[in-house]
Amino acid sequence: MVDVSQAPLILITGGSRGVGAATARLAAAKGYDVAISYVSNEPAALAVAADIEAMGRKALAVRADSANPDQVADLFTAIDRRFGRLDVLVNNAGVLATQSRLEDLSLERMQRIFAVNAIGPMLCAQQAVKRMAYRHNGAGGVVINISSASARLGSPNEYVDYAASKGALETFTIGFAKEVAREGIRVNCVRPGHIYTDMHASGGEPGRVDRVKDSIPMGRGGQPEEVAQAILWLASAEASFVTGTFLDVTGGK
Ligand code: NAP
Repeated sequence: MVDVSQAPLILITGGSRGVGAATARLAAAKGYDVAISYVSNEPAALAVAADIEAMGRKALAVRADSANPDQVADLFTAIDRRFGRLDVLVNNAGVLATQSRLEDLSLERMQRIFAVNAIGPMLCAQQAVKRMAYRHNGAGGVVINISSASARLGSPNEYVDYAASKGALETFTIGFAKEVAREGIRVNCVRPGHIYTDMHASGGEPGRVDRVKDSIPMGRGGQPEEVAQAILWLASAEASFVTGTFLDVTGGK
């Protein structure tokens, strides 16, 4: 049974930087207690946790590779122990690699991209459904998967593996949303476009958003906080009849 006297608990994977960190901070401002996972950047994760606590909310930062089933299970166990509830899961952790053509992609790279971006969210959702679904005596909940406009556009000459992994995440969103729709769980997807975060440096081009911004109908890149607003609307009761859908936050691209 969920203790309704407690604040709702949101888990944001990859909450140490970028879109995840912005979502964590905005969630705390909206009254959530916040758990975040990260994979390597502990100082960044602790800084986000400190900001959440400074807003008077509870915070938990756990190192957990989303692609590792044991670490994912430990992450959810840590949340059970600290909070005893889970209301919202944001599957935000994602990776890309150096801009390349298909011919130059290694098998190891393709496997890692799919493991983090497509399988990781399914591993986290497995854990979440066991805590949220009516059939498991849960009180319901919300899952939000963070895809990318690349799932529609394909990212030619840059990272078709990344785009394909996001396509897989989107198809998972459709099926999972239908599977749990009568179990009190809403499942939706946010597709960011070009957002100013560290991710583009991972692809080898830190200034990528500024290079491509003329191709964006609104003529600018997005801020992580603009994506966070969309995520937290989908998480909220204002979106109570919204499931299995996709919200583009792309400036029109
Ligand atoms: P980012 O700035 O590179 O941050 C990535 C975050 O994910 C970090 O907190 C990182 O943790 C965490 N992470 C990476 N691999 C992980 C793993 N295996 N397990 C757990 N956490 C992991 O990325 P971002 O731009 O905010 O992207 C967030 C999401 O938005 C991703 O799903 C991305 O695909 C999507 N997106 C971004 C853009 C964009 O333009 N930025 C566009 C479309 C979609 P550490 O700090 O420990 O490394």
